[in-house]
Amino acid sequence: MVKHSSRIELNQAAYKGNINFIRKKIGEIPILSSVVKANAYGHGIEVFVPMAEKCGINHFCVASSFEAEQVLSVCKPDSRILIMGIIYEEDLGWAISNGIAFFVYNFNRLSKVLEAAKKVDKKAKVHLEVETGANRTGMHAKEFPKALTYLKQHQDNLVFEGLCTHFGGAESISNQFKIDQQHKKYKAFLKICKERKFLPEIRHIACSAAALAMADTVYDMVRIGVAQYGFWPSPDIYYAHLHQTNKKSDTTMKRIFTWKTDIMDIRTVDQGEFIGYGTAFQATQEMQIAVIPLGYSNGYPRALSNRGQVLIHGKKAPIVGLINMNLFMVDITHIKEALVGDEVVLIGRQKNNVINVSSFTNATQLLNNEMLSRLPSAIPRSVLK
Ligand SMILES: *Cc1c(COP(=O)(O)O)cnc(C)c1O
Repeated sequence: MVKHSSRIELNQAAYKGNINFIRKKIGEIPILSSVVKANAYGHGIEVFVPMAEKCGINHFCVASSFEAEQVLSVCKPDSRILIMGIIYEEDLGWAISNGIAFFVYNFNRLSKVLEAAKKVDKKAKVHLEVETGANRTGMHAKEFPKALTYLKQHQDNLVFEGLCTHFGGAESISNQFKIDQQHKKYKAFLKICKERKFLPEIRHIACSAAALAMADTVYDMVRIGVAQYGFWPSPDIYYAHLHQTNKKSDTTMKRIFTWKTDIMDIRTVDQGEFIGYGTAFQATQEMQIAVIPLGYSNGYPRALSNRGQVLIHGKKAPIVGLINMNLFMVDITHIKEALVGDEVVLIGRQKNNVINVSSFTNATQLLNNEMLSRLPSAIPRSVLK
């Protein structure tokens, strides 16, 4: 097979470290579900999921039936999949027959689920998602009692597997009031279940931020996205953790992701010459320039034109000129040892230097999650053991 213009390596040992860290936070009992929506936050579902399984993960949350199918194609037969978002009516039967659980966030959906479950002759695993204040998806309180009745009536075909909600902004202390309100409302839904002696198997509300900083939000399962990839959800959550553990710093969580390419060509540019398109960069002296074989079409943000840096031989090489569709140029005048074919680190560590996703996103105004999740799925991913 011919080579792609860049590659992403995942560090399994670092991932295991992150999982151990999160596990310590949440305790032994709760299920640690790995959220792998958006191609595992850009890490690549097909490589990431088997790696996560090797580190003891056997539950995966996705945003769509399309992603569920991707997980299903690579996961172990006994791993569990939960769809938190879109699943088209015509795909309900597919999900149910494959044992895939899913959120149900309005009452009308239940009869469709029942119909599909009967058709494929298998029990549907329903997670009722309830509205607690995010006003995104979630069943309103007024529909909830009849939904419970419906589930109870049709227990031969429907399993009340989960009761869940999602916090709108748990990573920010300034949202704490809203988050507390959401948690209170969730408890009110739980109380109704208790009164009816009809309880979900799995109660789950915590995302990374909640699981790491708000111990009381950890029920039977947590849905961990960004933290497992080694990112603190926000400075607020990091400082809350330091405060709770009486530490000055904590570097246990590690990024697991390195994005690499190679020098495609090296050339000398005379003083006064312009580099690449337009007049964005003019050489102030004679310069050595390395050509990098990828651009904005490969997920490298154009906003890093004249601003970003890459690592070559562990040294920072600044981008000169505009990021093109498939190419960009960096200044290597100070990296005499650089040769065509040498490794270039776009994100991650090389020798004693590092380019963080955050240094990337500071310049581009992208969210970390946004930057990662936009990395094209065509970039090959591999696991570094
Ligand atoms: C994305 C998502 C999560 C995970 O969020 P992180 O902050 O990345 O941990 C959990 N639950 C739902 C419903 C989500 O959409």
